[in-house]
Amino acid sequence: MEIKKFENVVWLAVKEDERDVIEVREAPQMDVRLVSYPKDIEKLIAFAARATYKGHVAETVKDVPLGRALNMVQTVVECGHGSVWEHAVFTFDIRNISRACTHQIVRHRMASYTQESQHYISYDKLMVVRPDKLDKNQLTMFTEACKEAFMKYRGLIESGYPHSEARSVLPNAVAARLVMTVNARSLYNFFGLRCCARNTWEIHTLAWKMLAMCKEISPTLFAAAGPRCWQLGFCPEGRNTCGTRDYDVREFGALRSATSKKP
Ligand SMILES: Cc1cc2nc3c(=O)[nH]c(=O)nc-3n(C[C@H](O)[C@H](O)[C@H](O)COP(=O)(O)OP(=O)(O)OC[C@H]3O[C@@H](n4cnc5c(N)ncnc54)[C@H](O)[C@@H]3O)c2cc1C
Repeated sequence: MEIKKFENVVWLAVKEDERDVIEVREAPQMDVRLVSYPKDIEKLIAFAARATYKGHVAETVKDVPLGRALNMVQTVVECGHGSVWEHAVFTFDIRNISRACTHQIVRHRMASYTQESQHYISYDKLMVVRPDKLDKNQLTMFTEACKEAFMKYRGLIESGYPHSEARSVLPNAVAARLVMTVNARSLYNFFGLRCCARNTWEIHTLAWKMLAMCKEISPTLFAAAGPRCWQLGFCPEGRNTCGTRDYDVREFGALRSATSKKP
């Protein structure tokens, strides 16, 4: 097998035969973008929360004074009144993650998804996400497996089999793109489960990236968000616990101590 470099991407396998050039390459780094969120998140949540009290109702979202909005959000976060957080909806554009990871994400039912289609796309090059911490031998095994699967996929298509069915032989490592729209309450649940050290590296990394974005957008709303040990004050994983909350605190301590008020 020949290893070739191409710009900033490692080409894992390039094999030529009479029919085709088989190309399997490593996907660029995971790319997460927060593409949409409410302009005045705290005001929006306070606007909804104030509807519960007679005499506190604001006519419009922007009528809610910012200071009062921040206090209200802090109160509903501390009380865990999650239904009010549902008014804040976020859309993430997530690229260069594996199909294995997209499958884990879409298990979170309280969200809306649109995913790059293997039904409509026929791959003439295969982009894969390399799993974490492979040694040299394991990387070779991984590469060979992806190459073999891709060769069979191309072979099936060239023999007249539809690509929408031939995709069954493709590996879980195939790079994918997913657009996810999710509200703040469901994000708390997502972060609680997926920022936990028990997850595989890819969804774990993704969850922390998303959490960092949310904390930056609204430190007050996401003040208590993080792995479940942060949210609950104890680890509910029993004997499977990672043993220390310091694991995340060390790596992401700055996030945890994010202020609860916007400047
Ligand atoms: C470390 C880890 C290991 C995992 N291992 C496995 C595994 O081995 N096998 C496996 O299948 N999954 C596994 N999962 C996935 C997990 O079981 C959940 O499917 C996934 O995390 C989505 O969580 P959720 O249901 O809370 O989220 P959502 O689907 O977003 O639901 C959010 C909340 O809404 C409520 N809710 C949603 N749907 C219903 C419903 N139908 N009835 C009642 N209440 C509902 C619940 O309160 C739920 O917590 C694992 C997850 C983690 C974090």
